[in-house]
Amino acid sequence: MARYTGPVCKICRREKEKLFLKGSRCFSEKCSYDKKSYAPGQHGQRMRRRVSSYGFQLREKQKLKRIYGVMEKQFHGYFEKAEKKKGITGEILLQMLECRLDNLVYRLGFAPSRKAARQLVRHGHFLVNGGRVNIPSYQVKPKETISVREKSRDLEIIHLSLKEAGRGADLSYLRLDKAKLEGELLDIPKRIDIPILAQEQSIVELYSK
Ligand code: SF4
Repeated sequence: MARYTGPVCKICRREKEKLFLKGSRCFSEKCSYDKKSYAPGQHGQRMRRRVSSYGFQLREKQKLKRIYGVMEKQFHGYFEKAEKKKGITGEILLQMLECRLDNLVYRLGFAPSRKAARQLVRHGHFLVNGGRVNIPSYQVKPKETISVREKSRDLEIIHLSLKEAGRGADLSYLRLDKAKLEGELLDIPKRIDIPILAQEQSIVELYSK
């Protein structure tokens, strides 16, 4: 599947917000957004465009896609599934993104970024309920465990990431057992508990036009 392979820090500057796409660098003084918090490009510093409501909705969608590393077709697929379910479409959309296996591997602290988590999952380093799953978009269900495969338990990237990350341990919908290299999705996360600053209702309005 096609992936954005350009400079990721530009994305944060374009969205005018830190999206934490690069692991530990995002928390260091090397963060490009902290140094240059204006849009990229020659006129980025002077750009003061008024944003229309359509423009705002579009930016919110782009932001969410970029945070979770999902391309348009798949993202729209999530929206269509969310729309068919009973409940608040925007919240369900966010819950589906949050319950992706690559995202939960990142949240639990097994990988420094979602991009790295996706790569680790693809290479088969994780088990869900004891079975190998190498599909990053796999929807983890409540009470399912995510653990590091026996053969991968010495991977440095996982241990370094766990050492640095405080993620996962403080999210109410996740349980992390660092010693066992195992986590669990306790429940479908409630919107209020998902640490993402986005107005998902705007995305619903955009797709409903
Ligand atoms: Fe964004 Fe992280 Fe780059 Fe900072 S270091 S601009 S938060 S991706």
